[in-house]
Amino acid sequence: MIELTVCHLYGNLLNTYGDNGNLLMLKHRAKQHGILFNIEIISLNQSFDPSKYDLVFFGGGQDFEQRIVSLDLQTKKSDLSSYIENDGVMVGICGGFQLLGHYYVDAAGTKIEGAGALDYYTLNQVNNRFIGDIVIKNEEFGETYKGFENHNGRTFLGDQVKPLGIVEKGQGNNGEDRTEGAHYKQTFCSYLHGPLLVQNIPLTDRIIKQAVKNRFPKQAEELFS
Ligand code: GLN
Repeated sequence: MIELTVCHLYGNLLNTYGDNGNLLMLKHRAKQHGILFNIEIISLNQSFDPSKYDLVFFGGGQDFEQRIVSLDLQTKKSDLSSYIENDGVMVGICGGFQLLGHYYVDAAGTKIEGAGALDYYTLNQVNNRFIGDIVIKNEEFGETYKGFENHNGRTFLGDQVKPLGIVEKGQGNNGEDRTEGAHYKQTFCSYLHGPLLVQNIPLTDRIIKQAVKNRFPKQAEELFS
């Protein structure tokens, strides 16, 4: 049986709205394809080894926990960037999505440094949150994803990243430009809870397939044919 090593980044601090369900879903679908997931949490004061992991999941959180994570993240930023740049598979949701970017200005106006691994930044909004059902369309994959968003942050993408989708219903990254999430190399970020990967199986399978392909290219074709 193929085994994948999966990192739940700050999994003991960032797990709002059941984002942990994304990992449960990945593990469940992987098992159906005959792939075993070994999941470990990497959190504060632990190093992140970019060569060790086949998949990294970075979930959502509240501003308080994001501030704590931000400080520790500065020690991991170069390893995270090299993981992403080397086509490592990564999923970032909401707070995790925000923290992979340059910075996040939280609801209280405090600027929280991100990992700077992806080209975007996040501002706050006063006395408002984007809350509700959301539907986005990814033209490249020809897939529609649905979920639930709940965030104060307004994220603005730079030139280096594509959105995960274009908003058909809801607010998305910033309520202005109809972008939602970010897609760069094999990193997929989104504001969608639900959890995202429970509600959107084609994306779940795409992520598992890519993770297998990176480590076991020959077996990936057989498993998913
Ligand atoms: N604290 C962040 C915000 O409100 C992220 C929230 C979340 O992860 N759901 O924008």
